[in-house]
Amino acid sequence: MQFHMQEWMAKGLKATVQEKLDVSELFKGRADVLAAGPLHVSLEVAGHEGFVTASGELSIDLDLACSRCLDKVEEHTVIPYFEQFKLASAEEKDEGPEADENDEFVEVPTERLDLRPFLEEAVLVFMPFAPLCSKDCKGLCQSCGENLNERACDCKHEVIDPRFAALKDLFKD
Ligand SMILES: [Zn+2]
Ligand SMILES: [Zn+2]
Repeated sequence: MQFHMQEWMAKGLKATVQEKLDVSELFKGRADVLAAGPLHVSLEVAGHEGFVTASGELSIDLDLACSRCLDKVEEHTVIPYFEQFKLASAEEKDEGPEADENDEFVEVPTERLDLRPFLEEAVLVFMPFAPLCSKDCKGLCQSCGENLNERACDCKHEVIDPRFAALKDLFKD
């Protein structure tokens, strides 16, 4: 998924990109991602005068660990994608920080635009932040580790509202 910026801009090329990318490397060593399907890429890439756009949709099936009980949560994530790329030019770098105002463009340092790292970044940004197996998942017991969705344990579960906890401290003396 590499595009020659100059050529695409000069000729106003256009193409539909349909690809399946193996992104398992992206999640290596992450305890919260149990499995990741391929990243389905469906993009329209087009060259314009001075910039290249990529727009469309990414989707991926992820098996995530529930943020409370660590059980498997299957998520189908669809990510709308739109990005405008332009070549980083030497002159603009001298313009100082004000030039950065125009951040609707992603500056590409080389003639060759490789979309892959940008798509991977989009996946990481769009990942569900705290997935839950169900919205009333009871989680694991903090004392004994029992999955409270499956079994109740004998531990005392003192649930303290943080606001009351603060009051409690106030009246301690
Ligand atoms: Zn859960
Ligand atoms: Zn317990």
